[in-house]
Amino acid sequence: MLLVESETKLRSKPWHIQRLHLVVSAIAHFAAELTGEGFEVDYRRAASMAAGLQAHAREFNVSQVAAMEPMSWQGRELLVRLGVELVANDQFLCHYGEFAKWAKSRKSFKMEDFYRWQRKRLGVLMDRDGPAGGKWNFDQQNREPPPGDGRPWPVARRFELDAIDLEVLNRLPAGWGGSPDGTWPVTRGQALIRLEEFITDGLGGFGAFEDAMLTAEWKLSHSVLSSSLNLGLLHPRDVVEAVEASYRRGDAPIHSAEGFIRQVLGWREYVWGLYWLWMPGYRKENKLAAARPVPPAFTGQAPTAMACVASVAGQVNDRAYAHHIERLMVLGNLALTAGVDPQAMTEWMWASFVDGAEWVMLPNVLGMALYADGGRMATKPYAAGGAYMKRMSDFCPGCRYDPRRRSGPDACPFTTLYWDFLARQEGVLKNNYRIARQLAAMRALGDLAAVRERAEEVLAALDQGTL
Ligand code: SF4
Repeated sequence: MLLVESETKLRSKPWHIQRLHLVVSAIAHFAAELTGEGFEVDYRRAASMAAGLQAHAREFNVSQVAAMEPMSWQGRELLVRLGVELVANDQFLCHYGEFAKWAKSRKSFKMEDFYRWQRKRLGVLMDRDGPAGGKWNFDQQNREPPPGDGRPWPVARRFELDAIDLEVLNRLPAGWGGSPDGTWPVTRGQALIRLEEFITDGLGGFGAFEDAMLTAEWKLSHSVLSSSLNLGLLHPRDVVEAVEASYRRGDAPIHSAEGFIRQVLGWREYVWGLYWLWMPGYRKENKLAAARPVPPAFTGQAPTAMACVASVAGQVNDRAYAHHIERLMVLGNLALTAGVDPQAMTEWMWASFVDGAEWVMLPNVLGMALYADGGRMATKPYAAGGAYMKRMSDFCPGCRYDPRRRSGPDACPFTTLYWDFLARQEGVLKNNYRIARQLAAMRALGDLAAVRERAEEVLAALDQGTL
């Protein structure tokens, strides 16, 4: 078994140290497990993947190398160029070739169609007469604002760093952010413990509050299993079966089980399929001609008085993580309405999140959050003002800005930029019927000139790190 740790890859981005450590430590732990099982392992640290592979082939006189299809377009191109025999990737329930056949057999499609197709063909959450609970979708029950009762949230166990973790940490290039503290599983055994924790403590309360955000709570009832799934420590089948079994035992309500399975069996697999369907052209999409750099308030290079952004950026710094609605409605929403360059934003999120990878970041960041593909992923831009944040979080009461104001020095930057975005992009959006009502409201604003004037100040301050 050959495992290559590529120096080029380690230095290819300004990685968050927890993200970098997680990946390398998981490889090193896997090498140790394979050795323990009697495999002969060549763990090779090399200047690049190609250099490692070629050195291995020379040393052991190897004529044939086989690997599972890599998770990235570029990785696949590289291995094909190097003459590696590729075996089908089995990390998903729907291979991207199968997805492409499904997609090409339809004039148009959306995630909901794919999700139902997956449920039916795999027999997940299905009763004899149709979907379990009588409905395909329980989203209406999964949009509760955060409870204000100070309830305790499930705690994610930290795994003690072992000798391999520490050896890896000592030799990695300096990254940024909070040092690895055992939050993220680096072995399948640890990932199974995290899954068990979620099934026991998190799943029941997951659904109702999956879109809620709290300053003092980094994960609420989210599973925080994405890094384990994306690394292959868990298979989606492990997760889906455990969640369905919990529902069948009567331990988890249908809206939690269905909401979670929708994310894993539906959205995650849909994003994976679309990545391969639309690459390599997809990575260059920029339909809104957005060119602003990633705000220093996101990257930690400048403090910010925006309580919501400060909270989420702090979590990214501390754990290389923020949950999906914080990514979409705080970071993504501000990047969309401010006009941040979609390639720069994708790169930053890829390097900064513990579960980052090109296949997951391109459709989610460039497509879903930034609308840079002109609506292929999302049928309308996910732009929202401060009112949404006020309803779904506890950020606003402690903030220097006022979510109700759209102009003037106290105006919430989200509210100002929401209206300014609609006005700025009116030409591109005017044919999208799903946003017609918001465009009409924007045109009817009596103070639009003052809002747009304030937006110029907000955007300048965002760039300068003084917002
Ligand atoms: Fe964020 Fe605006 Fe609320 Fe402040 S007022 S926390 S900037 S949404």
